[in-house]
Amino acid sequence: MESFNELNISKQLQYAIADLGFEKPTPIQAQSFSVIMSGTDMVGIAQTGTGKTFAYMLPILQDMKFLKQVHPRVMVLVPTRELVLQVVEEIEKFGKYSSIRVLGVYGGTNINNQKEAVAQGTDIIVATPGRLYDLIISRAIQLKSIKKVVIDEVDVMLDLGFRFQLTNILELLPAKRQNIMFSATMTEDVNLFIHDFFVAPATVSVAVSGTPLENITQYTYAVPNFYTKVNLLLHILKDEKVFRKTLVFVPNKKSADMVFDLLDEFFGSEVAVIHSNKTQNYRIRSIENFNAGKTRILVTTDVMARGLDLDQISHVINFDVPNFPENYMHRIGRTGRAEQEGTAILLYTEKEKDAKIAIETLMDLEIEVLDFPAEVEVSERLTFDEQPQVIEINNPNNMEEVGPAFHEKKEKNLKENQGGSYKRIIKQKYKKPKTRGDKNYNKRNKK
Ligand code: AMP
Repeated sequence: MESFNELNISKQLQYAIADLGFEKPTPIQAQSFSVIMSGTDMVGIAQTGTGKTFAYMLPILQDMKFLKQVHPRVMVLVPTRELVLQVVEEIEKFGKYSSIRVLGVYGGTNINNQKEAVAQGTDIIVATPGRLYDLIISRAIQLKSIKKVVIDEVDVMLDLGFRFQLTNILELLPAKRQNIMFSATMTEDVNLFIHDFFVAPATVSVAVSGTPLENITQYTYAVPNFYTKVNLLLHILKDEKVFRKTLVFVPNKKSADMVFDLLDEFFGSEVAVIHSNKTQNYRIRSIENFNAGKTRILVTTDVMARGLDLDQISHVINFDVPNFPENYMHRIGRTGRAEQEGTAILLYTEKEKDAKIAIETLMDLEIEVLDFPAEVEVSERLTFDEQPQVIEINNPNNMEEVGPAFHEKKEKNLKENQGGSYKRIIKQKYKKPKTRGDKNYNKRNKK
């Protein structure tokens, strides 16, 4: 889209845009406008910096008539106080020539002052979920006039544990409303959330621009299961000259801890982990050490890695295949920056094959498959999620069918119990006595 004129927007908005010096809509703005104007629910996949705030505010402001009423008609939920301030500021700029009122509320400040501000009346309320919920239950805010709700950075909100507050708020809103959400990454949590609260949403997604594919060499390995992926990871990461500064992406906190624990056995202080259950201090330290080259391997989830300014990453290893191909682009875009060469490696199981094909389709490129190294042990062990599910075991009619699976499982359990800790097993196999710089190494091994 070459200019804002194509969107048929009001004179007031045109003047504000001219003041801001914007020449044409960004891709997410061009694509979201008609969807939001049509009134359907919308899911936008876009990162900060793509112009997403304006992407939802432009059609909302265009659609807002001046009304002198107290109760808000539009609600914007964001994860942090900084974002509340930032979004309020942006709305004030866009609404400069209209008389739309906007108010920001967030935790950590005097709630009584905010109650007074709300009582003055506002058209748009921008809020963090916790404080907003407090204002709602103390009856300071009336929700009956809300027509549109925007939830921004949903991935971060869910990762910070705001699901409960979000759910409570959404359940109190009038049923007849438009839901709009933005997320930089699609995660299973986000997907579930959409499923619970959105009605047939239209998805608007902007391909990550500027991912310099030509600077990134991509490889992939077909791997049968989680523990074999760990074995392969241990094998490739041993080469410390090549894998100088490596980001290992995992799908969630649970696998972050599992993968980190197993890597830690071999690489000790060379490896660190970040995810949202770690304290802020812990995360800052991990990132500083990684940036300073003290740790060469950083295990991270998609949500945590977002917003990190990491430089000179030599390798990005995708321990899983993201369900949403855009997430893969975000991940590998961490390497190959500023003319530097980078390498991205993708480990996929049979189950993840379709997701891998979706990525290749998006990139219009087939990732080179490397042979699984003969020296790497193929693990028979399965994680709980990988084990075949026994369904309806109490149904006598099904007993015959589930019989063999039952025995199989018993046998497997038996094997696991005999083998003891998996860490110990792979430790014996790989014998990586990594001691350099690891203060805890001796302590750990005396145990
Ligand atoms: P956001 O992704 O909403 O955080 O926006 C990122 C930055 O892009 C903000 O500083 C906006 O003011 C700016 N911006 C938004 N829309 C446009 C546009 N159409 N042209 C140029 N800059 C824009």
